[in-house]
Amino acid sequence: MTSYWVRQREYLLEISRALTAQLNLDAVLKKVLRAATEMLTGQSALIALRQPGGGFAIRAVYGLPVRLLGYFSELLADIPERAGHADFYIPGLANKLHQVAIETGLPLRQVVALPMSIGRELIGVLYVFRAHGGSFTPDDRRILASFADQAAIAVHNAQLYRRLAQEKHRLDAILEHSADGVMIMDPGQQITVFNRALSELTGWSAAEAIGRHHDEIIRWERLETGLDLAQAVAGGWPLAQDRQGKTPLYVEGDLRRRGGGTVSVGITYAPLLDREGRLVNIIANVRDITRFREADRLKSTFVSIVSHELKTPVATILGYAETLARSDAQWGPETAQELAETIKDEAKRLDRLITDLLDVSRLQAGALPLAMEEVALDMLARRVAQRFQPRTDRHEISIRFPKNFPLVKGDPMRLEQVLDNLVSNAIKYSPEGGKVRIRGRVRPEEVVVTVSDEGIGIPAVEQGRIFDAFYRVDDRSTRKTGGAGLGLYLARAIVEAHNGRIWVESEPGEGSSFSFALPRIDGTR
Ligand code: ADP
Repeated sequence: MTSYWVRQREYLLEISRALTAQLNLDAVLKKVLRAATEMLTGQSALIALRQPGGGFAIRAVYGLPVRLLGYFSELLADIPERAGHADFYIPGLANKLHQVAIETGLPLRQVVALPMSIGRELIGVLYVFRAHGGSFTPDDRRILASFADQAAIAVHNAQLYRRLAQEKHRLDAILEHSADGVMIMDPGQQITVFNRALSELTGWSAAEAIGRHHDEIIRWERLETGLDLAQAVAGGWPLAQDRQGKTPLYVEGDLRRRGGGTVSVGITYAPLLDREGRLVNIIANVRDITRFREADRLKSTFVSIVSHELKTPVATILGYAETLARSDAQWGPETAQELAETIKDEAKRLDRLITDLLDVSRLQAGALPLAMEEVALDMLARRVAQRFQPRTDRHEISIRFPKNFPLVKGDPMRLEQVLDNLVSNAIKYSPEGGKVRIRGRVRPEEVVVTVSDEGIGIPAVEQGRIFDAFYRVDDRSTRKTGGAGLGLYLARAIVEAHNGRIWVESEPGEGSSFSFALPRIDGTR
């Protein structure tokens, strides 16, 4: 005949197996409560768990109305900090229960408080309530103690698992939203994690990249540093260099993007080793360094353009001045006049460049100061045309503005600088000559001024960049003409400071039209 004892033990075993197989904390707590209540033939139960900040809080209940739980917190006072089973004792527990029974009107006569501990560490207390019944035998107590231990392990596991899952969730979120590209590879360089920033950089979605080999995704167009990952690994990285394998590998260069184009990146590969020193993962951090490269490029173009642009007129001025000053030659008044004119032109060109450079540095320091007043753009255009026409006999500069052209609010000197630049470019970049038209149009909310030429034109790919500082279209026809690539940059800055827009339409070989629009002060009428 199976004794009560054996049945109890089997029951206990079954419960603990079911418990330890479960990693969901809520489900574990529910099972523990139900089993404990059944074993003690009680009616209700609750579990209080130790809080991370200290103290205990009710975490799960069975057979108790939730709205009355507030009354039960009394029972959690005076729980000993650390305790084994034999000496576990909550002072005055029976009296407290009596009080709770009166306050809640629930039939609670008896309470058993079982410590849930891992070693001597108390992680929680299991309370089982009975409406009636005799006291527990020592056997009952032993079985319950053993059950409580199993429950403690299950709860502890579930807590650890939950913490781990939260931690992983947090790390995943950090990785996914990192501004740098991040990928994690297994020792065979198979990709296991691929974040959003890296998708944007490479053009590969995470779904497509995960499972592929590193070299399928990271394809260098050009390497700036010595070795790429494959070469470094062939050379023994990460283990050969230092015994701990702690040296990260840095590779920089231009990466081929999926679907075309390249992007400049710096990749830091960090090896992750286990305790035995075996490679577990390679973590790659990919940083977009296009901007640094661009800044670098800008700096060197700046130096080369500016020095060229400064040196050319200075050399001309020097040469002509020396010629004029020669004591062994006599110059007729006409030749002297010509030489002096050239010196004047070159000095003007220098002055223009220096002024432009000062404007650029003013712009970069903050803003261009504007002296605003009402400006008649048609008058201004006429003045510019009159100034430029005598300087060229290949070009015919024409003006067309409607009558009563609306006034705009602006800095007349700065707006003249814009027109000056556009007209001078129109002449400069139509070496064969042709018509240069300055045209004004009135729209409901703005006025538009367009300067068009019949010159060399601008390829579509360059049209977005010619407004950048120091940018010049690099082909033979432009290289012959001087310029620092600042005119359009300043023109755009001035127009935008007036709340306006500037743009270009052009067909290579056909000519270009530059337009700018400024808001009307009279508004829509
Ligand atoms: P710069 O004329 O000093 O080079 P800009 O900023 O005025 O500098 O112009 C930038 C570049 O845009 C020029 O180098 C030239 O390649 C191109 N560009 C400007 N205006 C014209 C035009 N009217 N026709 C063709 N190309 C032009």
